[in-house]
Amino acid sequence: MELRLYNTLTKEKEVFAPLDPARGVRMYVCGPTVYDFAHIGNARPVIVFDVLYRLLRHLYGEGGVKYVRNITDVDDKINARAAQEYPDLPLNEAIRFVTEKTERQFHEDVDALGCLRPDVEPRATEHIREMRDLIDRLVQAGFAYVEQDHVLFEVGTMPDYGRLARRSLDEMEAGARVEVAPYKRNPMDFVLWKPSKPNEPGWPSPSGITTPGRPGWHIECSAMSWKHLGETFDIHGGGIDLVFPHHENEIAQSRCAFHAPIMAKTWMHNGFLQVEGEKMSKSLGNFITIRQLLNDWPGEVIRFNMLRTHYRQPIDWTVKGLEESFDTLASWMGDDFNAGGEAKIAASVQYALLDDLNTPAAIAELHALAKSDPVALGSTLRALGFAHRPESKRTVDTGKVDALIDARLEARRSKNFAESDRIRDELKAMGVVLKDNKDGTTTWEVAR
Ligand code: AMP
Ligand code: ZN
Repeated sequence: MELRLYNTLTKEKEVFAPLDPARGVRMYVCGPTVYDFAHIGNARPVIVFDVLYRLLRHLYGEGGVKYVRNITDVDDKINARAAQEYPDLPLNEAIRFVTEKTERQFHEDVDALGCLRPDVEPRATEHIREMRDLIDRLVQAGFAYVEQDHVLFEVGTMPDYGRLARRSLDEMEAGARVEVAPYKRNPMDFVLWKPSKPNEPGWPSPSGITTPGRPGWHIECSAMSWKHLGETFDIHGGGIDLVFPHHENEIAQSRCAFHAPIMAKTWMHNGFLQVEGEKMSKSLGNFITIRQLLNDWPGEVIRFNMLRTHYRQPIDWTVKGLEESFDTLASWMGDDFNAGGEAKIAASVQYALLDDLNTPAAIAELHALAKSDPVALGSTLRALGFAHRPESKRTVDTGKVDALIDARLEARRSKNFAESDRIRDELKAMGVVLKDNKDGTTTWEVAR
């Protein structure tokens, strides 16, 4: 039985084998930018690659897999949040408060979703030296140039730039915005390093630049994967939105710096998550954090609901789906479910997962086990991260709904729209949909 994984790079399902069996399987997944609670879309890659990690550990042994997922702790959004939240502190200190708090919240959330911690969780700010080293190599080898205290990767120097995203440079240039930064030779050239503005965090710059600067986003992942997995490794994952430009640019940096034909062998991308048929966004009021969902649903139910859809398909996140997931899990895991029992993936379920992580097929096999072999069902559930019987079913607390609606009206009256939107989001996460009527009243219903 072979593991077959769909590779975005070749657009084919390929038989998987580690590049260097002696080093085991090496996997890198792009992690969160830590400035706020992660949303339910962010939970998708975390859960999907956790299932893959568990399957790989089952196949190659616990010591046979190294899973690295980074923490992005350099970002404009972090700086802005820090200045807003701790205006009286020096910015660097405020940033540390924000990133440490958010990282802790992220861990609490994904732990509750039954996800194992990766073997290494590197932070960008702890790998600035490696980033500078990579950038120096790229400049020395003629793949990057310095202009106005920026360092840019020159995409024209790489013949197959665009291979992952399957776009040609000509097409990309045609689609590029008219206004091009003055320090760029080509509109598609991307930033490896940029000067820090006064007050922003800054580090000594590479390539002879004398003023302090900070790294671009893409270089972080090239540096951290290199440090912890080597110049080339087996699997690189993330959401489908990362294919371009993030992963394309990671490939450009790493391959050119190391003169290597590949960065990672297998590129895997999860499809996008939308909520009740709509793109999730703050302006639509359907933005749901993992934390909000965990207030109302056991982590196991959220995890199971995510896995009912194959990872490459788009997923429509609904309250109805959560209710069905609750019922299924509750029927499988009786009062006597023993969290500490044996954990082992049954052969039929393993077989389904070996086919590009086909979790819907695996769930069909779990349904079959529920009828034929409850012991195997329990041990497979535990092995797949379902440790506890889901205890409570979500119920709408009408007193709380009414109080929130009142608070929202109050916020709208005082024109505090950020707060009124936040309250709408909170209600939405409880499954409550608001309707503002023409006569000024607000009514609500439970989404089904
Ligand atoms: P970000 O913090 O935006 O870089 O996202 C962290 C991870 O979550 C990346 O792998 C994204 O591709 C993924 N992601 C973000 N939004 C969604 C979504 N709506 N559905 C699925 N994955 C998402
Ligand atoms: Zn990345």
